[in-house]
Amino acid sequence: MNKIPKTHPRYFSLMIREKLSRGMKKGLVHETGLIAHGRGEAFDYLIGEKTISYAEEAEKTAAAVLLHAEKPVISVNGNVAVLVPEECISLARCIPAEIEVNLFHRTIERMKKIVKELETYGAKKVYGLKGDARIPGLDHDRGICDREGIFSADVVLVPLEDGDRCQALKNMGKTVIAIDLNPLSRTARTADITVVDNVVRAIPNIEKWVKTLKNMDDSVLMDMIESWENNEMLKNVLSFVSKRLETLYDD
Ligand code: ATP
Repeated sequence: MNKIPKTHPRYFSLMIREKLSRGMKKGLVHETGLIAHGRGEAFDYLIGEKTISYAEEAEKTAAAVLLHAEKPVISVNGNVAVLVPEECISLARCIPAEIEVNLFHRTIERMKKIVKELETYGAKKVYGLKGDARIPGLDHDRGICDREGIFSADVVLVPLEDGDRCQALKNMGKTVIAIDLNPLSRTARTADITVVDNVVRAIPNIEKWVKTLKNMDDSVLMDMIESWENNEMLKNVLSFVSKRLETLYDD
């Protein structure tokens, strides 16, 4: 990691790549996680690699939904465990919420490694290993979850989800908050609240809003939640990107 000089103009981006590469070598990240990250990076370029106002609003609303929830669960995959382990644990404590490891390419070995990684960063209870329930409508192992975790959650925060599973969670009656840099993905269009931001910025920002809103009356949270228009926000993000590109090289 120390081969990347801090003065490099793309230092942070390269450090993230390095973390993922190391995570893959340690068996935490699936190789397809690197491809998914590449797609995310491309969209991060388009929004300017910063939290845009529409993402900030989504992060605030996500915090309200998580605080209002009866049983919120944060779903963690390999990329998330490598990029924001401490941040996820800290957010879970602050809400409070449960954490479950939930993988698209599930193997017991990788599940155990990710659970152990999160425990190393201070997680006390991590769901996912039991795998005693199924998300209906999903084939193969990606539908496996814990009865006490995601299966019985009312709100699930799914950073970097795939569209099918997002839809299947919604079909179970859950509120789904997704973090996805691609505003065109099925996940982005299916989730109740889509945070179009990099997970490394989004998780700490959601925690910032959780702290701000924590002592607010539930009716204030409800007003925010009820007035949220996810499709409007996605349209606004796309128009932000197109305007940004149109004027990028203007003086
Ligand atoms: P869908 O099934 O929802 O249409 P997909 O097939 O692109 O999406 P994946 O291949 O699982 O789903 O990709 C995960 C998504 O995560 C991608 O859309 C990518 O933009 C996004 N992504 C990757 N890295 C990050 C990151 N660091 N922060 C936020 N989003 C990311």
